[in-house]
Amino acid sequence: MTATIIDGTAIAARLRAEIADKVKQMESEHGVRPGLATVLVGENPASQSYVRMKQKACEKAGIASFGHRFPADAPQDEVETLVKELNADPQVHGILVQLPLPKHLDEEAILSAVSLHKDVDGFHPVNIGRLAMKGRDPLFIPCTPHGVMVLLEEAGVEFEGAQAVVLGRSNIVGMPAAMLLIHRNATVTVCHSRTKDLPGECRKADILVAAVGHPQMVKADWVKPGAVVIDVGSNKVDDPTDERGYRWVGDVDFEAVKEVAGAITPSPGGVGPMTIAMLLKNTLRGAELAVAGQG
Ligand code: NDP
Repeated sequence: MTATIIDGTAIAARLRAEIADKVKQMESEHGVRPGLATVLVGENPASQSYVRMKQKACEKAGIASFGHRFPADAPQDEVETLVKELNADPQVHGILVQLPLPKHLDEEAILSAVSLHKDVDGFHPVNIGRLAMKGRDPLFIPCTPHGVMVLLEEAGVEFEGAQAVVLGRSNIVGMPAAMLLIHRNATVTVCHSRTKDLPGECRKADILVAAVGHPQMVKADWVKPGAVVIDVGSNKVDDPTDERGYRWVGDVDFEAVKEVAGAITPSPGGVGPMTIAMLLKNTLRGAELAVAGQG
């Protein structure tokens, strides 16, 4: 059996068009144009490219974007001061501090300085805390795990009582993805670098979310036949046959696993586009909160 391919690019494009319509509606009904501020510290080329992609996506959706950059040695108080200014700026409905920050900066203090109502990355400790609690809803859900959940919903997954395995426990992907799956009443196992028998744990999964950062680590014999596999991984690997000399692959051995899984996301073309769509959705939500007098 060959798996159904969950086309993140197409799903994200549909969501982005819906968001663009709502942005227009907000402008005509309330005179408010949703706005996203990005804060980039240092010269990390991957971070620069992510921020550029996010700003471009905003423009296409009619969302205003305000870029702020600091040199790699920026002092803590300058970054925090900017965040506080953005908190008070009525044109800004979402604040995105691009991670990772340079080592000398206190990431938790900077993320905590972001207004709860503008925390479009969902990394404020209060939003994460609410995500971890039963019966509490965060104002914003972190974009990548949110995208994972939307892809699972689009694939028609039955969450209730399903065995879900999340590979990876990072603050930005693995851990919030596990919490979101628990909220949907899946039984969740979180695996990490000290997990014994990773293939055996993965084979129990009806839903397998891979977010480890190791190219094509998840093999076909790690996957239960018919399982739904979401590949968050995005890894650059050398490829002399490609004119660029490299290509991008996920954490899952896609070609082999698609012969076993029931449904699977490609990478690229799966979770990546959804992350950006969820950021736009969260920025629109920030503007909706402001219009409702809660921003
Ligand atoms: P991190 O490096 O922060 O976390 C990796 C996690 O995987 C850790 O929990 C680590 O365990 C675990 N891990 C590492 N090696 C192994 C191993 N050999 N066996 C089992 N577990 C292991 O990565 P991120 O969560 O930030 O990202 C994961 C992947 O997702 C990357 O490929 C990244 O590029 C991609 N990504 C994609 C996004 C998108 O929008 N498409 C957005 C964000 C990330 P431990 O905690 O024990 O160290």
